[in-house]
Amino acid sequence: MREVTMYECGICQEIYNEPKYALECERMGKEKALAKVGDLVEYKVEGNIPNFFVELRIKTIEDRGHCVEYLFEQYDRDRKDWIDFSYNVYGNIDFKYLVTKLNKK
Ligand SMILES: [Zn+2]
Repeated sequence: MREVTMYECGICQEIYNEPKYALECERMGKEKALAKVGDLVEYKVEGNIPNFFVELRIKTIEDRGHCVEYLFEQYDRDRKDWIDFSYNVYGNIDFKYLVTKLNKK
């Protein structure tokens, strides 16, 4: 029998066989959300020329270990209700690139 020791990142629970890798992983730290639930934002839809923008509301912000994931909802004028938006934004790098915060009206 052989005893095996493993090391877990305390943030994302990834398992490593050497402590230095687990420490390296932890050193990436944890993102802080750049917005809060209920904030109105403008989302850049790419792949169209020109790009266009949709107005969304942040529905939830999920903890994904090192990153945060943003989920949005869009106001449906026909239903007069908020519906889930198809695309989530994973991580603050993409959030900064795709999302602009709007001032409260
Ligand atoms: Zn980690």
